[in-house]
Amino acid sequence: MATPVDLPSREERAAALESAGYNLFDVAADRVFVDLLTDSGTGTMSDAQWAAVLRGDESYAGSSSFRRLREAVADVMGFDRVVPAHQGRGAENVLYGTLVAEGDRVLNNTHFDTTRAHVAANGGEAVDCPDPAASEPDANDPFKGNFDVEAGRAAVDEVGAANVSVVVLTITNNSAAGQPVSVENTREVAAFADEIGATFVIDACRFAENAHFVTEREPEFADATAAEVAREQLGYADAIVMSGKKDGLVNIGGFVAVDGGLDDLFERAKQRAILYEGFPTYGGLAGRDLEAMAVGLREAVDDDYLAHRVGQVAELGAELAAAGLPVYEPVGGHAVYVDAGAALDHVPSSDFPGQALACELYLEGGVRTVELGSFAFPETERPEYVRFAVPRRTYHREHFEHVGETAAAVVDRADELTGFEVVDEPPMKELRHFSADLRPLDG
Ligand SMILES: *Cc1c(COP(=O)(O)O)cnc(C)c1O
Repeated sequence: MATPVDLPSREERAAALESAGYNLFDVAADRVFVDLLTDSGTGTMSDAQWAAVLRGDESYAGSSSFRRLREAVADVMGFDRVVPAHQGRGAENVLYGTLVAEGDRVLNNTHFDTTRAHVAANGGEAVDCPDPAASEPDANDPFKGNFDVEAGRAAVDEVGAANVSVVVLTITNNSAAGQPVSVENTREVAAFADEIGATFVIDACRFAENAHFVTEREPEFADATAAEVAREQLGYADAIVMSGKKDGLVNIGGFVAVDGGLDDLFERAKQRAILYEGFPTYGGLAGRDLEAMAVGLREAVDDDYLAHRVGQVAELGAELAAAGLPVYEPVGGHAVYVDAGAALDHVPSSDFPGQALACELYLEGGVRTVELGSFAFPETERPEYVRFAVPRRTYHREHFEHVGETAAAVVDRADELTGFEVVDEPPMKELRHFSADLRPLDG
């Protein structure tokens, strides 16, 4: 499907930004020229997916569309107990609401924002255990998304194994610049979770992109297909949580899948799904959505598609580096991360240099990105990232060239940019970047 886009005038962009409270989530999509806000649900569906949509079985219970989804999850991911949910966070609510009790610790290579919020909402404490290389934007390490098992052990020693209920591995590690996790690290984390008696969950949102990197970078899998790696890697988990909006190649959908041995967890997840998502054979989705996701999961592990996909992100990374922005290396699977703290080194973290850069990219060229630094993640120590996420199967080289030209113009006047302050934020700080209002500082 094609849709016209146009670049609003500079005055229109300035007005849109001001009325959005300098929060790009509040800018109307038709005011955006190249939308790199997220890769979540923004991709293009294939002909085969649209064809599958037409055979959606809308029965309330036991639809054949659910059966086809279950078969796809079993074939592609190796789990045959599936609880659909309307999207990833719905699946997180089902799973973490079942696994996390008041006072529990949850360890994760890095908690994604909604994951952190679900742990907190269930009274748990989210502890990140990223590989030390994750916070070095220039370290050319092949698996900077890995979980640091040493850090995990230290977090267990502080509170005792009985208080650590869940260990999560997020593949790729979205909050650590979309960096991949090796299969070797997955095995270590599985053994660690087993040793402390915790449930081992893989947040599989980008399992296919991760598998592609494994085929390229982990010698043991040099001759394997992404499909083979995906099954091997996911096979270590007790349960997986999935946003179909990423590597499910759909615009909406998600699910939890549970290992065959964990009857009790599967039953409890289904009960919670009934409360929050819907009967466990549709989980808040129409039958046609289940069909599209079943086809999308199979397409996502195609090696040619993955080479194109990850290649496009690398191409955007090269454009931004050529424009003079400090690009996180190596470029991740779904997005290019730029260190705004380094690009705008005159703006302190407390004044949100990432937000300053993101707003200016919009003002300059109608390019929408997202700040993932101290505005999005208050009270956590992290680099001041701006993320340029690439929707799947959507944009062309010309779009990336426009983004590169926009970035070069912003870099030229970077030292004139001023920071921002928050003027209004929601009660749940973990989610403030979706809805807070800001104001530019006068410099
Ligand atoms: C997107 C995402 C989620 C949440 O999924 P939604 O479909 O946006 O609700 C959870 N974990 C990770 C790693 C994600 O990238």
